[in-house]
Amino acid sequence: MRLIFLGPPGSGKGTQATLLAEQEGVPKISTGDILREAVRRRSPLGLQAKAYMDAGELVPDRVMIGLIGQRLREGDCAAGFILDGFPRTLPQAQELEAILEDRGIELDAVVNLDVDHEVLLDRLLTRLVCGECGQVYNSQTDPPPEDQRCMKCGGRIESRTDDDQETLEKRLSVFEKQTRPLKAYYAGHGQLVEIDGGQSIPEVHQAILAALRRLKHLQ
Ligand code: AMP
Repeated sequence: MRLIFLGPPGSGKGTQATLLAEQEGVPKISTGDILREAVRRRSPLGLQAKAYMDAGELVPDRVMIGLIGQRLREGDCAAGFILDGFPRTLPQAQELEAILEDRGIELDAVVNLDVDHEVLLDRLLTRLVCGECGQVYNSQTDPPPEDQRCMKCGGRIESRTDDDQETLEKRLSVFEKQTRPLKAYYAGHGQLVEIDGGQSIPEVHQAILAALRRLKHLQ
């Protein structure tokens, strides 16, 4: 299975990509997670990316394209992958297409999750994440254990530093300008699957599975 998840911050891309990747036995590749890990390790990539991330802006395309090209060459991607947070611009999408074409690989689908702006803000302002494994919690709907330790790995649970109101508004406006056009791009390629991301996590998961089954029948 080779999939891309598209959608604004807070649309549930990461959660749904994780569920599907576990079910399908393929890696979930989150460029945001890779960058956050690089920032934590203070690697050259992290040092380069941090200022953009803190400002809610996109890390330059050439950095991201190099990063994803390298990651997709790793052995665990041979049987498939699910991309979460890449591509985010038209040049990234075009480069990805070139990389896949070069390797004789085709995408199965691009899953687009749409959610109302107000719901996104609400979700993101109450989002909590494990600093170690990235597991997502929510202070209102899915609160973490009292000791603020992750149920999966025991890591410390915290708010993302870019989930404050000002940075969030910036990230959502960057999404509208730079990433939203990818929906039309992939619709033009006949690869787009549209899902209502405002439903519950299991409902969205089931809707994705049903849509992928329908797509398979059509192909
Ligand atoms: P995310 O965890 O997907 O919300 O990503 C967090 C931050 O990492 C974004 O706000 C960007 O600064 C950066 N980032 C992640 N993926 C990309 C990408 N494909 N292109 C540019 N910047 C990215």
